[in-house]
Amino acid sequence: TTNAAPAAPTDRRTIVVSGPSGGGKSTLLERLFREYPNTFGFSVSHTTRKPRPGEVDGVAYHFVTHATINDMIAKDQFLEHAVYASNTYGTSRKAVQDIKDSGKICIMDIELQGVKQIRELAKKSREEGGGGVEGFEARYLLVRPPSLEVLEARLRARKTESEDAIQKRLEAARREWDAGSDPGNFECIVVNDDLDTAYRDLHRFIFGATKVE
Ligand code: 5GP
Repeated sequence: TTNAAPAAPTDRRTIVVSGPSGGGKSTLLERLFREYPNTFGFSVSHTTRKPRPGEVDGVAYHFVTHATINDMIAKDQFLEHAVYASNTYGTSRKAVQDIKDSGKICIMDIELQGVKQIRELAKKSREEGGGGVEGFEARYLLVRPPSLEVLEARLRARKTESEDAIQKRLEAARREWDAGSDPGNFECIVVNDDLDTAYRDLHRFIFGATKVE
């Protein structure tokens, strides 16, 4: 059996990855970026959240103050933005444009309100004939743990959040859980139970069933 996985997907659309904080998105995406360093570009969001240990400014996020992010919102510098667990997060137009300019496929990691805003933008730009930074089409993937109980256990195990932050994340996850099953939101759901299996599923969604057996 030869695994002739292609170096890049033929589908160049932006890939929007969503799912509860603690569900394993970052781990899966890090693996993808490691395996394909020249193919995908991660859209680095701005956030008012404080960095976790090991998170590098400008890599995981641009860590900014509320004043900065509010100023950027006022100047219409974000494609989408949302409040999640008491912090503001946003995808800047520049973050996405820079990836487009580099020729890479853009990958965004955003929560559900952001997904809806991006869907709306894509729809509008389709109606208006496309073009510009908003003139992109995206495909939408949800990564989630097998259950809310597993999510809670994982959030606690990583020991990066205060009890208050854990509660807020669980609350958000509960609120978003049912939306995951709404076919209007996501084309594919990867259940992250076993990491290798989840990575294979994510890979298949991104590259298509192009493996030569
Ligand atoms: P965390 O604080 O755990 O890194 O992220 C919390 C949530 O915010 C996650 O669901 C993540 O996908 C989402 N998120 C990260 N960046 C953005 C962004 O730019 N926009 C939106 N809407 N959500 C984001």
